Amino acid sequence: LGRSLGVDLVPYKTCTYDCIYCQLGRTTVKTMDRREYVPTNEVLSELDQRLAEGAAPDYVTLSGSGEPTLHSKLGEIAAAVKRMTSIPLAVLTNGSLLWDPAVREDLAQADLVVPSLDAGDSTLFQTVNRPHPTLLFERMLDGLRMFRKEFKQQIWLEILLLEGLTGSQAEAEKIARLAEETSPDKIELNTVTRPPAEDFALPVPLQQLQRLKNLFGAHAEVIGDANIPEPMARNAVMTEEILNLLDRRPCTINDLAQGLGTTPSEILKAMDPLLDRNCVAAINTGGRQYYRRISGRGEA
Ligand code: SF4
Repeated sequence: LGRSLGVDLVPYKTCTYDCIYCQLGRTTVKTMDRREYVPTNEVLSELDQRLAEGAAPDYVTLSGSGEPTLHSKLGEIAAAVKRMTSIPLAVLTNGSLLWDPAVREDLAQADLVVPSLDAGDSTLFQTVNRPHPTLLFERMLDGLRMFRKEFKQQIWLEILLLEGLTGSQAEAEKIARLAEETSPDKIELNTVTRPPAEDFALPVPLQQLQRLKNLFGAHAEVIGDANIPEPMARNAVMTEEILNLLDRRPCTINDLAQGLGTTPSEILKAMDPLLDRNCVAAINTGGRQYYRRISGRGEA
């Protein structure tokens, strides 16, 4: 999405899924309950402030460290964002709640919706996405189909393939057939490129991913992250950049995300090992959580 201004609508790891590949770790709150998880007015005033400060992203993106369609005021937020700015509005969703007419209505105001489809049958859906017990594969698929019929703007379907599970020709073919039924405008193929929630979530080699792409038609592409030949190198760069910023001053997770042009979720993920190794300490000041360096550069 180029430069994207991410708006996080749910608390960390509040999700309908517990994907084995999730870069944020295991889901702590697995739920299907739509609620106002974070106050709508606070979300909007923070966004308004960022835009007033001159942020000029290519997209305002509702996403974050969980499933954004769980926020019950999603439609209200989307409408307010559209009134606030002419920057296109994108929503990154796992697509698990699209069978709900209220969710589809809330999403109607977006310019781009990026839902996921990671499995070609119920068994692999359970294995890969570990959904909430009440969420059935067919229901999720029906949601994707219904959403395509109603939504007139762009849908880019994201498909994350895993070695030994969904990364084979046979499994990818099954996913490709289902993807075709949902008629996305674009298909983005991806694989694991950051430390996953489970060690057994393995990346599909890039060459294999490029071959599998042909199953998904002309509008499929292997997206950015999967094109990084040495995915772990990205984490090393992120760690170095975080330490560079903390050398200058203590920062909140949001400060770091803004400073490094990434999402709070990515910063949190990179922060865990730094805390474990006592390179960084968390300090609470005035109700806000800051992070500061506590060791010399050589120790990181
Ligand atoms: S990858 Fe997305 S959908 Fe899957 S558990 Fe993580 S936040 Fe939820």
